[in-house]
Amino acid sequence: MGGGVIGLSCAYELQKRGHQAVVLEINRCGGQASGAAAGMLAPYSENVEGPDAFFHLCNESLRLYPEWVKEIKRVSGREFEYTESGSLYIAYHEADRLALEGRLLWQREHGSTGALLEGEELFAREPLLSREVKAALYTPEESHLYAPDYVMALEQACRLTGVQIEEQLVQLTVEEWRNDVVVKAQDGRSFNGDRLLVCSGAWAQELADVFGIRIPIYPIRGQICAYEAEVKPVQHMVFSNQGYLVAKENRTLVCGASEDVAGFDTTVTDKGIERLRKWNKQAFPFLAEQTPFHRWAGLRPSTQDGFPLLGRLSASDRVVMAAGHYRNGILLSPVTAKVAADYIERKKLPEAMEAFDPERFSI
Ligand SMILES: Cc1cc2nc3c(=O)[nH]c(=O)nc-3n(C[C@H](O)[C@H](O)[C@H](O)COP(=O)(O)OP(=O)(O)OC[C@H]3O[C@@H](n4cnc5c(N)ncnc54)[C@H](O)[C@@H]3O)c2cc1C
Repeated sequence: MGGGVIGLSCAYELQKRGHQAVVLEINRCGGQASGAAAGMLAPYSENVEGPDAFFHLCNESLRLYPEWVKEIKRVSGREFEYTESGSLYIAYHEADRLALEGRLLWQREHGSTGALLEGEELFAREPLLSREVKAALYTPEESHLYAPDYVMALEQACRLTGVQIEEQLVQLTVEEWRNDVVVKAQDGRSFNGDRLLVCSGAWAQELADVFGIRIPIYPIRGQICAYEAEVKPVQHMVFSNQGYLVAKENRTLVCGASEDVAGFDTTVTDKGIERLRKWNKQAFPFLAEQTPFHRWAGLRPSTQDGFPLLGRLSASDRVVMAAGHYRNGILLSPVTAKVAADYIERKKLPEAMEAFDPERFSI
């Protein structure tokens, strides 16, 4: 259930392993969070606290990316931007610089070949960056892709390998999930299977009563905007604790993103975009003269502890959950596909995966 980046990646992987996957989507594939994402693949910049289970999952997914991208492009026959740009996490104050130094220490033990840059060395790498910036943590390993095209390529890879995709199903009801799997659509169609994989993002909580567990996944709206950019004005993904900027091959400069509690409302507000603009100008003064030409929003599926719900249900190993990827669902798509497919095939997974147990909130 669910045709976002997670559902499509899982369906593709399962089909590749010889199963018949069926994607049931109430709207259209990629029409929610996945199509709205900035496409950053940034486990180091997104995990600032330390190397916990979530960081390891993100980092494992980043490592899978180069091969995964090649495969999805080859199988789908579609091109999409995938750029190994590296990232800069910027700091304006001496105290923040110290925090970056601390982060660099543990990140170097976990695959980063990063460095702390300042002065001429920093501005040579990112010439238009504000001279107010005191230092930046450079992480060459981080990359990004163009999420809408990636999701379309995934959908095409699914279709060409024989995944059955059913869209616009309006409303779906899980009728049976313990001894068999039966999902009914409002139009009377019935879908039967051996396993049910729940990939319905911010909407997954709707199934809590069906399975009798707590599914604390909530929508967090991300408002995001893009500037037109004739020549590539920003060379890396540039992060701060206020937001991020990333230049795309299609000559846009994407800037995100707010984190609003607004239910399932995807309206873009002037206030939300103004906050981003204020931060953008501070990081790149040339943006003071410019106005974003495109604004949009999506609903990140956030969980109570920030970790996704990924694993089997104890009441029936026919049901596997893969939802709640919050800010990192694009990054996590390859690893989620492999882990979810392993659960579907009833393989034994490493103990570390227990951190993502979908029933951890139900105890
Ligand atoms: C502004 C913004 C920027 C982001 N930037 C990044 C980024 O740079 N890098 C990154 O890794 N991540 C990013 N994310 C997060 C990422 O987009 C999400 O984590 C990811 O898209 C979640 O994928 P999903 O498939 O679980 O959810 P979705 O893409 O929301 O897909 C869920 C699908 O399930 C469908 N559905 C709902 N209910 C049902 C039902 N009952 N039955 C069947 N289908 C159902 C929905 O219609 C939807 O299509 C960003 C998100 C936003 C909003």
